[in-house]
Amino acid sequence: MTQTAPAFTGRLATPADDDFDEVVLGRVFNARRPVRRPDAVLLARTEDDVLAGVRLAAEKGWTVAVRSGGHAWAAWSVRDGGLLIDLGDFRGIDYDAATGIVRATPSTKGGEELSPFLEERGRFFNGGHCPTVGIGGFLLQGGQGWNQRGWGWAAENLVAIDVVTADGELVRADESHNADLFWAARGAGPAFPGIVTRFHLRTRALPGGIAHTVQAFRPAEFTEVMTWMYEATHRIPGNVEIVVVGKHLPDEHGEPGFVVTGLAFGDSLEHAQASLDVFRENPALPRAIGVKDAAPATLAELREEQLRANPEDHHYLTDNVWLEGEPSDVVERIRPLFTERPAKKAFSIWMSNTPTRPLPDMAFSLHTGAYVATYCCYEDPAEEDAHRAWMAAALAEVQPVTAGQYLGDSDFTTRQLRFMTDEAYQRLQAVIAHRDPGGRFARYLAADPETLNRNHWEL
Ligand SMILES: Cc1cc2nc3c(=O)[nH]c(=O)nc-3n(C[C@H](O)[C@H](O)[C@H](O)COP(=O)(O)OP(=O)(O)OC[C@H]3O[C@@H](n4cnc5c(N)ncnc54)[C@H](O)[C@@H]3O)c2cc1C
Repeated sequence: MTQTAPAFTGRLATPADDDFDEVVLGRVFNARRPVRRPDAVLLARTEDDVLAGVRLAAEKGWTVAVRSGGHAWAAWSVRDGGLLIDLGDFRGIDYDAATGIVRATPSTKGGEELSPFLEERGRFFNGGHCPTVGIGGFLLQGGQGWNQRGWGWAAENLVAIDVVTADGELVRADESHNADLFWAARGAGPAFPGIVTRFHLRTRALPGGIAHTVQAFRPAEFTEVMTWMYEATHRIPGNVEIVVVGKHLPDEHGEPGFVVTGLAFGDSLEHAQASLDVFRENPALPRAIGVKDAAPATLAELREEQLRANPEDHHYLTDNVWLEGEPSDVVERIRPLFTERPAKKAFSIWMSNTPTRPLPDMAFSLHTGAYVATYCCYEDPAEEDAHRAWMAAALAEVQPVTAGQYLGDSDFTTRQLRFMTDEAYQRLQAVIAHRDPGGRFARYLAADPETLNRNHWEL
């Protein structure tokens, strides 16, 4: 039975409803589902619904969790008890050609919806790689979008946000109004003390051309290729996204291997292609088992490729680190992540963030010159323990060259690392204490909240 409270345009679902589990979990991307369940779910359709939801939660004494795109690997939106406000049915994108600013609701899918909308208008926003990720969770944690190395974190393009506060009020936050909320919205992730109902984003001109270089190798070439990569990354222009992916290669042996990729966004196709020249200097190139050299690419093709790499209805375990240290040490320590594959569809990425830029004043405050993330993707839940054990062992090897981690690929119920500078973390606690003293909004979902933002081996 469905209860529709008169105060809502959307729907309030409770455990008494036959489809309650589907409402709680149906929009969670990861098929590895939690056993946690909220007291109720509000499927909000309007800003007024969100306001009414926060007021209802205050009446009932509920904590509020939020869901935009449902892509948090660790299903952060699903908590035990309280109200889940799901923004999936709250839709809207509009663009102002005079300012180049696009306004979008948080459940907008960055690649599948926002990008094609902007392309029609000759504009681009560097949203997440997988097209179905919601802009809500993505932007709040910083946002590692296309060519983050050159264009910066996606949240750096926020010009304003509309926020429902713990008091049940709707406010605008930007550099000069409610600046504490604006600072926190760019990096606090799931501890943001409010519900963002609209993001105001600066867009850029659509790239005039995109070119893609891909070089595939067997595991034996890893040390040589990565040693070269660490040196070459300094010489590759800033319009090139540089990623090395460890995965099963679709060759005749189906063996683990790795691919070096350069993705150039240029003013023209010729500019993009020329930006990839350095990849031809890879000393292991004669031993590559597959090469695509500066081939033209489209945004639509890139999106399809991402959908294939991240299949729906699969179980995922993920973890990640920001790397620091001598390249020779780093390369040996990350080797197992790239040369062993626990599952056919599992993969790891090494992403260059070199040269590392100073960050603007925002909650997102920790990154280094290179990032590694690993994604264990599998279909049989019985495999979980084996994959967990492999991942834990591989990341223990990386620990001596680990500076911290990125919220976007983290699961604090598995492992807790530093994700902000200590100064930013303290400042965030002060913003939360001021904006949400009663703890209306759910915070980080952690195995041990006391040791949040600490590298566990330093404790
Ligand atoms: C297949 C896949 C590919 C990915 N690729 C990338 C990538 O390329 N780059 C990258 O940076 N990340 C990537 N991620 C990680 C992804 O960006 C994060 O998981 C992000 O949190 C997803 O946002 P969402 O809105 O879809 O998730 P949700 O699960 O809906 O949101 C996550 C959490 O953020 C908070 N939140 C969300 N919306 C709001 C809001 N409006 N107001 C207040 N709090 C809110 C809530 O705490 C919520 O539980 C990927 C994830 C997946 C599953």
